Amino acid sequence: MEFINLKKQYQVLKPVIDERIQNIMAKASFIGGSEVDEFEKKFAEYIGRKHCISCGNGTDALLLSCLVYGVGKDDAVFCPDMTFIASIEPACMLGAAPVFVDIEPETYNLSPECLEKEIKRVIEEGTLNPKAVIMVDFLGNPANVEAIEHICKKYGLILIEDAAQAIGAFYKDKKCGSIGDISCTSFFPSKPLGCYGDGGAILTDDDNIADLLRSYKMHGKGSSKYDNVRIGINSRLDTIQAAVLLAKLEILDKEIQERQRIAKRYDYAFADIFQIPFVKEGCRCSYAQYVLLAKDKEHRAKVLEVMKKTDIPSLLYYPKEMHRMDAFHMDNNEEFPNAARYANCNFGIPFSPYLTEEEQDMVIHTIKSIYK
Ligand SMILES: *Cc1c(COP(=O)(O)O)cnc(C)c1O
Repeated sequence: MEFINLKKQYQVLKPVIDERIQNIMAKASFIGGSEVDEFEKKFAEYIGRKHCISCGNGTDALLLSCLVYGVGKDDAVFCPDMTFIASIEPACMLGAAPVFVDIEPETYNLSPECLEKEIKRVIEEGTLNPKAVIMVDFLGNPANVEAIEHICKKYGLILIEDAAQAIGAFYKDKKCGSIGDISCTSFFPSKPLGCYGDGGAILTDDDNIADLLRSYKMHGKGSSKYDNVRIGINSRLDTIQAAVLLAKLEILDKEIQERQRIAKRYDYAFADIFQIPFVKEGCRCSYAQYVLLAKDKEHRAKVLEVMKKTDIPSLLYYPKEMHRMDAFHMDNNEEFPNAARYANCNFGIPFSPYLTEEEQDMVIHTIKSIYK
């Protein structure tokens, strides 16, 4: 059984994708071109943002966002304690200090109460300038948008949405990728909208920011690539990847529907033994992963053991909180109880729009067999 079945998705899309790629091969034009322009236009329309600026990957998207808003030395950047390191790594690379924040116990997303507490603490300490919040839609579940937007306004912070796992999800009338001052996403193959390699995008409604991003992503170009007005990077979405994404964007909503259906089935099967995903009223989760919480570490170990024996793949999303990573050299002993509980109890099970009913049954029966 595949953890995420990308082979089957390719079989469904093969005629379209093969033709698009063949066209590019025939033209031998692999950088930029009409596919990239078309994808940026269609993706911005799909999300409901004015501009889409494609780039090399999701981490670059976050780096470029931090660059355009001038994140740097002496700035504090707030980020949930449970995420993938790429959410905060670019801000740190630019010299900012990461400030981790505990998560909500039900959605595993950034807790607004804890966020405000951390902001107040930073202001009181007076050594760092509170600059930005990285709001992650964790596992594809939209964050607590209204409360976080309110806090960002109150303290004058830039709100950066990390929607790498949440394309296809929405918070009320707003699609994930359209929330906050600027949004970032990744097209890594296993994400809800993925390509066949690396890819990423930034979404914004601000014309000036969009122009700046297009400069920063191309060596700080001025009037041309060979007229450079600032220090930038090189970050591009390849033409072939744009072609793959154009084909996948066509079926994204259908796939998201299917994800809802399978998630409901899992929810029903597991609600009495595990903590199941909680999606807030009026929101849709893209279920980048389907993750359950066991009662404790021992309970989880039991489940993982039986899954391993039966050759059912599982993954921990994620096994360790951010503030405990050696990379950050955190000297405080602050504990984030909700993030800690999540790290100790979570496990992801096979999930994709192409998971057959037989496979779903097998996953359910195997995991439930620990009670027999
Ligand atoms: C995947 C991911 C990223 C980084 O994307 P890459 O394309 O791998 O650079 C950033 N944030 C989150 C939450 C992710 O899941």
